[in-house]
Amino acid sequence: MAVQTIASATGIDLGPAAALSCRECGHRVPLGPVFACEECFGPLEVAYDLPAGSPQELKDKIAAGPQSIWRYAPLLPVPADVAAKPNLNPGFTRLIQADRLAADLGVDAGNLYVKDDSGNPTHSFKDRVVAIALEAARAFGFTTLSCSSTGNLAGAVGAAAARAGLRSCVFIPYDLEQGKVIMAAVYGGDVVGIEGTYDDVNRFCSELIGDPIGEGWGFTNVNLRPYYAEGSKTLAYEICEQLGWQLPDNLIIPVASGSQLTKIDKGLKELIKLGLVEDKPYKIFGAQAEGCSPVSSAYKDGHDVVRPVRPDTIAKSLAIGNPADGPYVLDITRRTGGAVEDVNDEQVVDAIKQLARTEGVFAETAGGVTFGVLKKLVEDGRISPSETTVAINTGDGLKTLDAVAPTTGPTATIRPNLDSFREAGLA
Ligand SMILES: *Cc1c(COP(=O)(O)O)cnc(C)c1O
Ligand SMILES: [Zn+2]
Repeated sequence: MAVQTIASATGIDLGPAAALSCRECGHRVPLGPVFACEECFGPLEVAYDLPAGSPQELKDKIAAGPQSIWRYAPLLPVPADVAAKPNLNPGFTRLIQADRLAADLGVDAGNLYVKDDSGNPTHSFKDRVVAIALEAARAFGFTTLSCSSTGNLAGAVGAAAARAGLRSCVFIPYDLEQGKVIMAAVYGGDVVGIEGTYDDVNRFCSELIGDPIGEGWGFTNVNLRPYYAEGSKTLAYEICEQLGWQLPDNLIIPVASGSQLTKIDKGLKELIKLGLVEDKPYKIFGAQAEGCSPVSSAYKDGHDVVRPVRPDTIAKSLAIGNPADGPYVLDITRRTGGAVEDVNDEQVVDAIKQLARTEGVFAETAGGVTFGVLKKLVEDGRISPSETTVAINTGDGLKTLDAVAPTTGPTATIRPNLDSFREAGLA
């Protein structure tokens, strides 16, 4: 009850969100655009008054809701009327039973699923997190939406701001893929390329927030990070709902900052607590590219501390050398009996093509990392063919064409007659 008072005292209506609480020491503060604990500098996260009522009542309410993440509004930091506001209504992407990929990998039929988040409005999972951050930005009266981005976030912020009528100004490393840069710029907001890595971009944004220039700016993944991060819980909710309100045995999730993996685990734990799924063990696996594998290296070395690296990989959307949630990824993968694994650029490209060839899903390089790691885990016997496994494709292959362009193209080019086709040897 005391927490309810904090939320209402500030006049901020973000639905069931009651306060922010420190992940490390539990210290609570009112809802606001803050991200670090004033006591211990630990990350703040949203604490809720979760809905009352029976699990069946909640399932019925969700089933009657919109075909978007807003069906889970009672579990998110958003006002009850969120679906009526101009936003991109992301989520409720398809969950594909991937029997042909399963056969290729040696997994039993019916046990492997692809959660295809390339089907979101700007073709990556980032629309989920931005939609939640946008509600926080509105609640706090921000007029500019911003972010530091490895590519996909910049596009998601640009589109969400355009639709909501806010200004946007996003910051990216200068050397991103053309598809990501154009996707960010086409919505009419400002896009600033910074000469440096993502970690330099992120440091720059932290400086900007502290400066008067940054007044009125909501950075989705910096000062709005506690809200933004909650959007990833919707992947957990959707996967379980689409499996008939069941937990999978294994989840394979790509790791950049580690926020998505951390919050999917939070979402699964909430579903168990609310009685929406049966309480049973599940394993969470993190996937990184070898050229930017600080969390995977720490996992393999048995360390609790993640040592920053300088990224060098074609999986640019995952190229965060100093991942904020790295230690939590280590905790979660170890606690659940999962692992963090990595694959090289060649394996990334092979995995993109294998997924496309077997299931008709064209993944970006981050998806190549995830499915490359899936392959490795099945081959090593760390994922059992008889268990249910869900791997997440977080972005669209059209954004990273350069990865497959050198080895993919027309089978033949012919003159428009049958002889020419016969000569090509394809008849
Ligand atoms: C941002 C992103 C992720 C995950 O990022 P986290 O920082 O770990 O939450 C995964 N895949 C793609 C394609 C992304 O753009
Ligand atoms: Zn604290």
